[in-house]
Amino acid sequence: MSAQISTNASIELLKIQFADFLKKKMYRNTQERFLVLERLAELDKHFSADELYIIINSTGLKISRATIYSTLDLLTRCNIITKHRFQGESAHFELSSRKPNHDHLICVECGHIIEFNEEQLYNIGKNVCNKFDFIPMKYSMQIFGVCKDINTCEFNK
Ligand SMILES: [Zn+2]
Ligand SMILES: [Zn+2]
Repeated sequence: MSAQISTNASIELLKIQFADFLKKKMYRNTQERFLVLERLAELDKHFSADELYIIINSTGLKISRATIYSTLDLLTRCNIITKHRFQGESAHFELSSRKPNHDHLICVECGHIIEFNEEQLYNIGKNVCNKFDFIPMKYSMQIFGVCKDINTCEFNK
């Protein structure tokens, strides 16, 4: 089953969720914030704030870097998107509903990201939480390394 969110109906649901959050927290409900959400919801990958800025502005829309940064911050706070810190790099984001509970392998040379889902790892995490009477809220596992195949590693090209 694909968890990909790309249908208009799903995007509408995300917009309702975002509008509720903005209202509850008394933030301004601006059209620009919703345009940012619409554009990023169409991406089926990780992206940095700068990459999103370039993608959005290349479509002819004029949205400032500051608006993109602040909107990403708000969307992270209401869990519509998930923020990843892949080592020294700038933060990467992805739609939370894109692929629930997946983990990442990150090449420290070329930045290539491989996504995987090993239920066993996830279950080990749950068992550890049970053992320590701890309620998990977020689960994240990152393995840093290098691409074995130098032909697929951008750094080696
Ligand atoms: Zn991912
Ligand atoms: Zn690589």
